This record gives sequence, C-alpha cells and structure tokens, in this order.
Amino acid sequence: MAKSLASCIFCKIIKGEIPSFKIVETETTFSFLDIGPLSKGHALIIPKHHAEKLHELPDEYLTEALPIAKKIATALGLKDYNILQNNGRIAHQEVDHVHFHLIPKPRASDEEG
Ligand code: 5GP
Ligand code: ZN
Repeated sequence: MAKSLASCIFCKIIKGEIPSFKIVETETTFSFLDIGPLSKGHALIIPKHHAEKLHELPDEYLTEALPIAKKIATALGLKDYNILQNNGRIAHQEVDHVHFHLIPKPRASDEEG
C-alpha cells in the first residue's frame, strides 16, 4: 500500500498538487526533471510511497527505479552519467523522500553548437 505524507514536496508532486515535468510514471515509481539541474536532463526517480531513507522503503517500491533510470539514460543516449542517492543531512539529502538522481555528464564536444 503506497504511503504519502501531506507535507512532503515529492508526495505532492506524485499527486499532481505541485507541477513537475514528468518523464515517466509506473504503478510504483515516478520520474521527473530536477528543478535545479546540475546538467541538462538531470532527472529524479522516486518511489510512489513515502519513506525518508532507502532502508525504510519496502522492496516492492524499489524494483522499477533502476530500470527506469536505464530507460532514461538510453532514451537520452547518455554515455557518461552518475546515479546518486543521498540518505540523511550529512550525506547531502535535502528532500526527505527517497529519490535517485540521474545526472548526465556531457562531454565537452556535446556542449558545442
Ligand atoms: P537531495 O539533495 O535531497 O538528494 O536532492 C533533492 C533534489 O530535489 C535537488 O536536486 C533539488 O533541486 C530537487 N528539488 C527540490 N524541490 C523540488 C521541486 O519542487 N521540484 C523538482 N522538480 N525538484 C525539486
Ligand atoms: Zn513523500
């Protein structure tokens, strides 16, 4: 059963209460563009269940996250990119709803033109 938290920004994005640029949505997972992108195409992939940290998230909400990251990376034709997932303030987590970052790392030649 998906759990949501009324005060959570990402739960509001999943419910459409806060607008986002949605990339793809499945039964358990939602992905959208990051509002403060570190590079063009910076995406977030989040479970449709509120859990602050990875170890608190039921496994069934994890199974689609990395396959979706793969699909986005493939669709964008990425060659170089980071998948990042922060847990806790000391580890630079700002939004307390589990999320994976997909951060493209463009090559200098990609930036030309
Ligand atoms: P963290 O530091 O928690 O791993 O990353 C949180 C990410 O969420 C940041 O990259 C930040 O730009 C993004 N973010 C925060 N609020 C919003 C929002 O309202 N909409 C979108 N699309 N991204 C957000
Ligand atoms: Zn949430």
